[in-house]
Amino acid sequence: MNREHYLKVKEAIEGKASLLVVSKYHTVEEAMEYYDLGVRHFGENRMQELLPKVDAMPKDIHWHFLGHLQKDKVKKVVPVVAMIQSLDSIGLADKIEQACAKIAKTMPCLIELHLAEDDGEKTGIGKEELFPLMEHCQSLPHVDVQGIMVMGPNVEDKEAIRRTFQEGHRCFFELQKRYGANQIKIYSAGMSNDFLIALEEGSTQVRVGSYLF
Ligand SMILES: *Cc1c(COP(=O)(O)O)cnc(C)c1O
Repeated sequence: MNREHYLKVKEAIEGKASLLVVSKYHTVEEAMEYYDLGVRHFGENRMQELLPKVDAMPKDIHWHFLGHLQKDKVKKVVPVVAMIQSLDSIGLADKIEQACAKIAKTMPCLIELHLAEDDGEKTGIGKEELFPLMEHCQSLPHVDVQGIMVMGPNVEDKEAIRRTFQEGHRCFFELQKRYGANQIKIYSAGMSNDFLIALEEGSTQVRVGSYLF
């Protein structure tokens, strides 16, 4: 745990955004140090790492799934998470709907948008797919889309990072205009290397891992 970094993040988000502690690659013991400081929202990006942590850690934790979710894993992930932040296809939305209908759960989700300028990453959907996917989800009673998740490009150029988060915020705002700010509440943007820029550009939730461990 890095208390100094934790306090820096807390100060930066104060009154603006919430914090998701990304515990991937770290042990239960390491994650528990943040639990003991009061953190209740944790993020993981692989099912294989998520499930053992869910078992080992206290039940009042809200787990957020961040990684690409394969359809055959949906059934196992859905019962244990509070939110899926990597909704990236109509097929995945349909799978979540089916799995949630069976256990009478409504799944809060974020649509993962891919906005970074040619950074070689392949996760998330393009802007042009955002409204069609959102519209489809309106027909799924157990899928509750609450906003978008965006990753900054993996580059040094701070202005390129800023442009990506600005673009994300425009998309967030467009969604709010269409579906209302009561439904579209979360703009999840900013990680260890870029959370300060993301906060300047309107992030409502930062997902911070390596900076805290
Ligand atoms: C790993 C990960 C994070 C945290 O990244 P750090 O650089 O360690 O802060 C945030 N969001 C997603 C989607 C991730 O996969």
